[in-house]
Amino acid sequence: MRLSRYFLPVLKETPREAQIVSHRYMLQAGMIRQSSAGIYSWLPLGFKVLKRLEQIVHEEQQRVGHLPMLMPTIQSGDLWKQSGRHNSYGPEMLRFHDRHGREMLYGPTNEEMITEIVAAYVKSYRDLPLTLYHIQWKFRDERRPRFGVMRGREFYMKDGYNFDLSKEAALHAYNRHLVSYLRTYERMGLQAIPMRADSGPIGGDYTHEFLVLADTGESEVFYDSAITDLTFGDRAVDVDDYTACQAVMDEFTSRYARTDETHDEALFNEVPEDRRRSARGIEVGQIFYFGTEYSEKMGAIVQNEDGKQVPLHMGSHGIGVSRLVGAIIEASHDDKGIIWPEGVTPFHCGIVNLKQGDEAADAECDKLYDSLSALGLEPLYDDRDERAGAKFGTMDMIGLPWRITVGPRGLKNGVVELTSRRTGESEELPPEQAVARIAEIYQGVA
Ligand code: ATP
Ligand code: MG
Repeated sequence: MRLSRYFLPVLKETPREAQIVSHRYMLQAGMIRQSSAGIYSWLPLGFKVLKRLEQIVHEEQQRVGHLPMLMPTIQSGDLWKQSGRHNSYGPEMLRFHDRHGREMLYGPTNEEMITEIVAAYVKSYRDLPLTLYHIQWKFRDERRPRFGVMRGREFYMKDGYNFDLSKEAALHAYNRHLVSYLRTYERMGLQAIPMRADSGPIGGDYTHEFLVLADTGESEVFYDSAITDLTFGDRAVDVDDYTACQAVMDEFTSRYARTDETHDEALFNEVPEDRRRSARGIEVGQIFYFGTEYSEKMGAIVQNEDGKQVPLHMGSHGIGVSRLVGAIIEASHDDKGIIWPEGVTPFHCGIVNLKQGDEAADAECDKLYDSLSALGLEPLYDDRDERAGAKFGTMDMIGLPWRITVGPRGLKNGVVELTSRRTGESEELPPEQAVARIAEIYQGVA
């Protein structure tokens, strides 16, 4: 993309309404624009990152056999009356009537709808196990929408639902989701720690929230610092193997790590003192096994091997896709702007032409652009007739991890400059080598 043809409304001034850095940078980098409280338009740069995260989520869901689908945003109130949540959900649910006076709502989540679908078609144990998911906009009329996309009213979420014949099988699905989520967040350059969360009125210990540690996080968390040494890495876990998934679950959840709702002072004090941490975190996902409650209410009942009619065991599992854009920025920025991890960057590399209109510089930039594109990479070429300082400022703010700087002086010596956004380190090298290096860097990034 050439910047002169792009829509990148970078703000010079600091937006006053932004209380945290991710919100401020998303506004300044021209990624989002508020349309009303907690509701945003995603401008081209922000949209690119959102879609990139969505793609990673799809890939990792399908890697473990979960099936993508799409349910509507608007749901009927009657559906929610079947589960009893039409009354209990409270003012976070946006309710309205259609022209015939029917009660409708903008879905805050989809347990009812998916259970109705499964109840309609799945009648036998032979159709199981089944995990369906979608990535769709949700609406929750939050009391205090704030921090930009981190606590929006309209937000983009992956929500998945497993249907299994037995508790054991459903707990395997639970573990499998943990495995898949760990990989998902690491691909986004994040450490998201599974923490024991509050399962509410349903009870049981089968819910974990995934938290990214950040001072601006809304959740208070307590953990054994040894947990931060764990990474999922590139392990090949057979997701059909109950024991293998359970082993990952045990490894990642055996240390103390809890949100304030489940925090237990006595247990926490058993952690060696030098490893006890209390901190703040951003909830970027949650997994939940809740048994047969919805299935019983909504008639998701199948025939088992013995010919008996039994309700399905269910779980639901969410990833906050739009919140993640903010969370990644909270975890990865400096005082000049965003620093995208390679796995999620909107463009792979920036090209800065120090002297637009200089024949050699223009030609070299075009060549770099073509070479990178030919390798399947997407550069953002700042071809505007602007001062170098302004171009660098824009590149630093929008946070592309790599930048190639081209100027007449360097070209006389046959070199361009390759700069890492993260370290700020620059290296002069021939243009072909700069391209090769960037190609190499992204080769390891799926
Ligand atoms: P929170 O406690 O932050 O209100 P939640 O536990 O109610 O979130 P879930 O129902 O678990 O949310 O939804 C799954 C994921 O969707 C959350 O882990 C979070 O990442 C994201 N999410 C929830 N509410 C919002 C929101 N208002 N804005 C943006 N993302 C959200
Ligand atoms: Mg949650």
